[in-house]
Order: sequence, then structure tokens, then C-alpha cells
Amino acid sequence: MMKWGFLMMLVVVSVCAFAQTEQEKLRDVEMQRQANRLRNLERQIDSVALLIDQQQYVAADAKIVNILKTVRSVPSDLTFYLGKTSFYLQKYKQSVDWLNKYIQLKGTSGQFSEEAINLKTKGEVELLKEKQTEAKQAGELLSKDFDIDCGPTGKVACPVCNGSTVIIKKTYLGETYKTCGYCNHTGALSCEDYNKLLKGQLKASTQ
Ligand SMILES: [Zn+2]
Repeated sequence: MMKWGFLMMLVVVSVCAFAQTEQEKLRDVEMQRQANRLRNLERQIDSVALLIDQQQYVAADAKIVNILKTVRSVPSDLTFYLGKTSFYLQKYKQSVDWLNKYIQLKGTSGQFSEEAINLKTKGEVELLKEKQTEAKQAGELLSKDFDIDCGPTGKVACPVCNGSTVIIKKTYLGETYKTCGYCNHTGALSCEDYNKLLKGQLKASTQ
């Protein structure tokens, strides 16, 4: 009885050992596969960096798009490269988006943080310009882009003080009166000053 029990145990132990080595082998293969994948990804990212260095942004962009199809999560360096490439391809919205990602991930201490912040600022300026151009192309007419004809008198009642020459300010202590700084005690503006006022170019006298 003792002998059989011992034999059985031996069998169980050796089966387990066999199963474990099989499992280990599978795990090794999987780890090897992952390591290869990672090495391959790093190599591809390196070639993206090289293309960017050579200012071949279209090629870099195509490569990045290919990489994005294969990765489950985007490496932080790639967020920067995509942001930078997009900037030079004048895709400013996309650029600002990815540069923001990089800055969120790395803060100000990342390898590319300074350049990322720089490019992002430039991208935002370009975005703003685009928006203004779009407004213009959409035919939005803004009065400040035109000179207004004030009619035969060449004068307009001062819009700041409504022609009264004083500006009334209501405070919790009551009303305070101040001389209007725009119409020089006349309550009226010349047409030239009126147009300047509309464009935000008329300065109030400090008196
Ligand atoms: Zn006035």
C-alpha cells in the first residue's frame, strides 16, 4: 500500500513538472514575442525621428499612421512626433491636440517638453489665424473693417457720453460725474474720431 502511494505521488509530481515546463516554455515564447514587438516598435519610432530630422514630414506622417494601426497604446514619444509632424504639415488642430497629450504626459521635464510647448504655442496662433480667415471667407461682415460715413455734418453725437459730455457712474455711494475724455467737452465726435473709436483706436484724454 505504501509503495503504491509513493509511486502515485511520483507520477503526479512528474506530470506537474512536465506541465510546468510546458507552461514556462509558452511563457518564454510569449515574452520573446513581446520583446520582439517592442524592439520593432522602437526601431519604427527611431525611423520616424530620423525622417523628422530630415524634414520629411509627409513620409514621417505616413509612417506614424502605420504605427498607430498596430499599437494598442501610443508611446509618449510618438505623441510628440505626431504633434510636430502635424505642425509642419499645417494640420494645426491635430498638432495642438497631440502636443497637449505629450505635455500632459511629460510635464515640463520631458525630453521634448520645451519644443512641444513652443510648437503648441505657434500652432495655437496659426489656429487663431485660420479661424479669422474662415470668418472672412464665410463672408462675415464686421463694421470695424469699414469706415462709416457720418453724413453731411461730418459729426456724430459722442457714443461714450451720449452727447452729454459727462459720464455718470453709479456706485454704492451714489452717482459720480466725470467729464467725457473722448469728445473734448463738445458732446460730439468728428467722423474721423468716430471711426477711430469704433476700431478701438481713439484714446481718451486723461484729464
Ligand atoms: Zn463724449
